[in-house]
Amino acid sequence: MLSQLLDITIIGGGPAGLYTAFYAGLRGMKVRIIEYQDKLGGKVNLYPEKIVWDIGGIAPKPAGEIVDDMITQGLTFEPEVHLSEKVMNITKKEEQLFEVATDQNTYLSKSVIIAIGSGIISPMKLAIEGAERYEVANLHYVVPSLSRFKDRRVLISGGGNAAVDWAYAIAPFAAHVSILCRKDDFKGHEEMVRKLDDRGVEKIMSHSIHSLQAEGDAIESVIIQHCRTREPREIAVDDVIINHGFHMESDLLDQCDIKLERKDNFYIKGHADSSTQVPGVYAVGDILSHDSKVQLMAGCFHDAANAANLAKTYIDPTASEAGTVSSHNEVFKEKNEELLSNML
Ligand SMILES: Cc1cc2nc3c(=O)[nH]c(=O)nc-3n(C[C@H](O)[C@H](O)[C@H](O)COP(=O)(O)OP(=O)(O)OC[C@H]3O[C@@H](n4cnc5c(N)ncnc54)[C@H](O)[C@@H]3O)c2cc1C
Repeated sequence: MLSQLLDITIIGGGPAGLYTAFYAGLRGMKVRIIEYQDKLGGKVNLYPEKIVWDIGGIAPKPAGEIVDDMITQGLTFEPEVHLSEKVMNITKKEEQLFEVATDQNTYLSKSVIIAIGSGIISPMKLAIEGAERYEVANLHYVVPSLSRFKDRRVLISGGGNAAVDWAYAIAPFAAHVSILCRKDDFKGHEEMVRKLDDRGVEKIMSHSIHSLQAEGDAIESVIIQHCRTREPREIAVDDVIINHGFHMESDLLDQCDIKLERKDNFYIKGHADSSTQVPGVYAVGDILSHDSKVQLMAGCFHDAANAANLAKTYIDPTASEAGTVSSHNEVFKEKNEELLSNML
């Protein structure tokens, strides 16, 4: 199915893609976002419970709340949003005509903004048949919030820094925390591993999860097994958290028709203004590399405004190079009236 011709197709719905959608809307362009995951927010969704301090002008707060705000802002101008679609190819048909092919559709736009971050990241799932049914209840691959585990018995499987950090952070709230590691030692920082003792975390070495005992959709206990002796043990749980690492997929740029200069076989080697070697194609956020790149969410916002401005003048060379500041921008007039009336 061929789509409507819009001004911009944004590939990736993380911080960079969302702010691009906002800023392009501010500049009066019609955009679509295509995102592989079933929700917007990018890899910030992997650490929703962590407190973020380093976004300019935003007081420290959990990353999950920042994602909510970024989504609200990104949807201000009602972009088309296509979730659970994987972009497979980008083709330049002619100036101001690009085709972006996903595993389900083909989309047309006058320009393309690549905001794919570190590619498609998915947690390594527990290799137990049927385990996915417990994800609705108490099997987690990401810690949604620390308060979720208040007074609960939590088993964490994983030996890396993230698993150790989670055990340390959850322990003060939980009734009991055990951390299970296949190896004889944790990979996590030695000092953090030691601190687990101060918080009463039970460390279970050289064991792995063998099977799950459940009532309905909720796991009630986990059978673990010693990796060498195979001796089993049953642990009663209220929640199970798995941190076995992440699977990363990032072959879009290797296989797509447009050829972009790369750095370290991964990043797009672009410019500080977010332009690439292909007119009409811009790169924003973590995927963009240049000498003065800021690898923070703050850097994504800067890239996004630049890319939207360049897309605007690529599509309409008579347009002004930069947008009007939001405080004095007519596009917000009606929205401001609504906001102000709600404040009174
Ligand atoms: C553990 C951790 C902690 C962090 N803490 C901070 C912090 O405190 N402060 C800070 O400023 N930054 C922090 N960062 C960095 C911050 O998360 C990134 O800079 C930011 O997420 C980059 O946004 P992005 O939109 O460029 O990429 P991403 O967030 O990676 O989003 C890219 C999106 O593109 C999608 N995508 C990729 N390929 C395709 C495809 N082919 N088709 C469709 N969709 C695709 C992905 O699914 C993803 O949703 C942290 C990062 C990590 C990993």
